[in-house]
Amino acid sequence: MYDVVVVGAGPAGSMAAKKAADAGCKVLLVEKMQLPREKSCSGILIKKSINTVEKEFGKIPHNLPCKTKNKGIVLTNEENKEFKFESEGLNVWRSSFDQWLSLVAEDSGVELRQSTSVISCEEKEDHVVVKLNCNGTYYEKTKVMIACDGATSKIKRSLGRGQNNQIITYQTFCRGTIDLDGSFFYAFLDPKFSQYDAWFNVKDDFLVFGVGVKEVSLIKNYHSRFLSFLASEFNAKIQSSVRGEMGILPCVMPGYGTDMGKGRVLFAGEAANFLNPMGEGISGALITGAMAAESAVSLFEDNLNINNLVDLYKNRVADEKEYMIRQWKFLTKLSPRFSYLNK
Ligand SMILES: Cc1cc2nc3c(=O)[nH]c(=O)nc-3n(C[C@H](O)[C@H](O)[C@H](O)COP(=O)(O)OP(=O)(O)OC[C@H]3O[C@@H](n4cnc5c(N)ncnc54)[C@H](O)[C@@H]3O)c2cc1C
Repeated sequence: MYDVVVVGAGPAGSMAAKKAADAGCKVLLVEKMQLPREKSCSGILIKKSINTVEKEFGKIPHNLPCKTKNKGIVLTNEENKEFKFESEGLNVWRSSFDQWLSLVAEDSGVELRQSTSVISCEEKEDHVVVKLNCNGTYYEKTKVMIACDGATSKIKRSLGRGQNNQIITYQTFCRGTIDLDGSFFYAFLDPKFSQYDAWFNVKDDFLVFGVGVKEVSLIKNYHSRFLSFLASEFNAKIQSSVRGEMGILPCVMPGYGTDMGKGRVLFAGEAANFLNPMGEGISGALITGAMAAESAVSLFEDNLNINNLVDLYKNRVADEKEYMIRQWKFLTKLSPRFSYLNK
């Protein structure tokens, strides 16, 4: 019997697993992929993410971030007004960053099981039965489960929870030149270029161009319209397009509900619907992962009734949720489009 089984070795999962292991729990962290695994992401670590991660995991190794640092975000709204927010951050490849997190968690006593999928879970009176698959199906038992399995959470579905609306993302990694400052992340909110946002940033030697849509059939049209705009406005010259990748974001808006879990199963990160504007989700994932683990630990230490677990967790994340809602409301002031985008 584990104290805590954590599903998914992204930022939320490795944080939850490490925090629980540091508090003396017997922890299993299950990841369906072999690490390092790719995760479609711009990889910007804002100051809040850096501080949260370094507090629990120690200094980020100096050779882990990309050559390009991040100095902030430049947002252009649908009326072509530009807003610049300066703040020092880092830029990482998620494959290396997430692998580092999981290895530090393992060093803290977490049992990491890779290439293993959690298929579903079933709550019993005093534990959760977890169904796993790795060349065959088998089961584990845990007192508490923390689902950190991202925007398309299978665990949520297996518990009959509603699925979030989703935004499909597509970004291409290109060689070329552009008259924009590669140390900033540029977001464009004009609906001509996306059904959510379109973005440009630099990662190592790549120019990265991305768009988010609700209707996947339109994704390449939006992407090429965005590239034409960057070519005419910012002199973008693409020599070669090296690769393209798709991703998924939960469609989070002000007023959108978070879902923190049910009974002995807590959700964290994107599985709980935590995402800040312009797709910044690593800070929320780290923070909710930590708080989910703290809630489980205080349940064990204070010998509380299991019915208190989700409420304990909701209380802990209340400030982070407020912060996220404030951020979205702020965005609707800069871009009125975001206040009705989801209707
Ligand atoms: C295009 C794009 C750009 C982004 N850019 C940024 C950015 O620059 N900065 C930022 O802060 N955020 C960014 N985000 C958001 C960020 O990637 C997410 O918010 C963050 O990764 C959420 O972390 P998580 O731990 O909740 O989930 P994830 O990082 O999605 O991790 C979930 C993990 O669970 C595993 N998993 C899933 N199902 C199972 C299962 N059944 N069994 C076992 N394992 C499972 C997955 O393989 C994965 O490793 C971006 C997202 C996209 C799509």
